[in-house]
Amino acid sequence: MLELWTEAVRSIEPLVKPAHRDLWLRPIECLAIDDGRIRLRAPNRYHKEWFEDNFLPSILKDLESRAQRAFKVDFEVIEDQGEPARLSAVSSTSERRAPPSLPVAARPPELVERYTFDKFVVGPTNQFAHAAARMVAEAPASRWNPLFIYGGVGLGKTHLLQAIGHEIHRQHPEWAVTFITCEKFVTDFIGSMMSQKRAGGSSMEEFRARYRNAPDVLLVDDIQFLSNKDSSQDEFFHTFNALHYAHKQIVLASDKLPAELPGVEDRLRSRFTWGLIAEVETPDLETRVAILKRKAELEKVDLPDEAALYLAAHIKSNVRELEGALLRLAARASFQGQAISIDLARDAISKLVANTPTGLTIEAVQREVAAYFDVKLHDLKGPKRHRAVAHPRMVAMYLARKLTNMSYPEIGSRFGGKDHSTVISAVRKIERLCGEDPSVRSVVSTLESHLRQP
Ligand code: ADP
Ligand code: MG
Repeated sequence: MLELWTEAVRSIEPLVKPAHRDLWLRPIECLAIDDGRIRLRAPNRYHKEWFEDNFLPSILKDLESRAQRAFKVDFEVIEDQGEPARLSAVSSTSERRAPPSLPVAARPPELVERYTFDKFVVGPTNQFAHAAARMVAEAPASRWNPLFIYGGVGLGKTHLLQAIGHEIHRQHPEWAVTFITCEKFVTDFIGSMMSQKRAGGSSMEEFRARYRNAPDVLLVDDIQFLSNKDSSQDEFFHTFNALHYAHKQIVLASDKLPAELPGVEDRLRSRFTWGLIAEVETPDLETRVAILKRKAELEKVDLPDEAALYLAAHIKSNVRELEGALLRLAARASFQGQAISIDLARDAISKLVANTPTGLTIEAVQREVAAYFDVKLHDLKGPKRHRAVAHPRMVAMYLARKLTNMSYPEIGSRFGGKDHSTVISAVRKIERLCGEDPSVRSVVSTLESHLRQP
């Protein structure tokens, strides 16, 4: 009878991504099929629910049509039976385990309060990574070790990494959850090495105790930072091995896939692929809207649907920018004593688009302006004060300020070493003239639009 189950599972496999097959299908055991009942076992509750929602209906449909009868499903969950969800019972952890009557320990200080699972909006592009993170948090070091979360900037990697930390801490307050950016790991390591050399002290021992021995869970953010740092890589290699060997969960976040990490040794890259790689991708429109609405709710901002849609339709690349735009919009609405509306959103977005950095260099600005006014580049940057060069120079300073990321002093230095106050007054003057004099405004905006052309 069990064959019936195996075949039904096989029938849906082609429809399931290979990674999902390993993650969701394989761990579900069919214990028995008899008398119209199917007994299944899942590693944990979360897994059970996911399976029931996503796979069970199709499997059951297939199975029932093969067997020509209906079935009821009984699920048991390993965790509920008091079996350890964690395979490793390492002695150092059990010694540290506090009696249950003690109050729950405070949140580990490196974890940001709001980066929890309940504040993470799930959509098609992060569903897999989210599910994998939940699984790892439910049953650390039992299956996917390491979990490698990968994706572009501002897509929720740090959020997920920290959410794992929060959840494990919630379920096992006595465990040592260590969250660290890779950059901090590297600086700490170099610092310990240097003070070791200077004082001949025990700082390397302390470093190793902190990262190799102490953690029950190690969460390392932005692991791509290890690129081209040979001695830190070597140290991390040993840290990884020690923790992995002791069945401690490791989770890594990176903006590159292991195979694409430049200047990282093969032995380390291959270890990064031992567990599961889960990607977060740019969210689709619906998810962007949902993220905005969730954020608005958390920030107690009244965000009408059309305004949310407008923002989400215009800011596509990453969630951090989306959040930033919402906060700016909320600030502006409250500053102007208005409710957030689609008009206000449109206005805020147009400013945002107009102010995006162009990647222009100050030389390009100077060349364009000099050519337009037909003055020599040399004079534009020089000390001459007559109006024929002074005016173009002010325009160039104004555009440099608007279109590049340079500060006032930096701009001054590129105009023959002028003081930053000269630049500031030039920028103010052009701003004023643009307000007063349509001909100046039209020249400046023509130049600006030329410069903005790709
Ligand atoms: P990354 O580490 O990938 O650069 P972060 O985790 O720092 O990105 O996310 C950037 C911001 O966007 C954070 O404030 C985070 O809370 C938020 N964020 C990203 N994805 C989501 C999501 N799916 N739901 C809610 N907030 C999100
Ligand atoms: Mg991050």
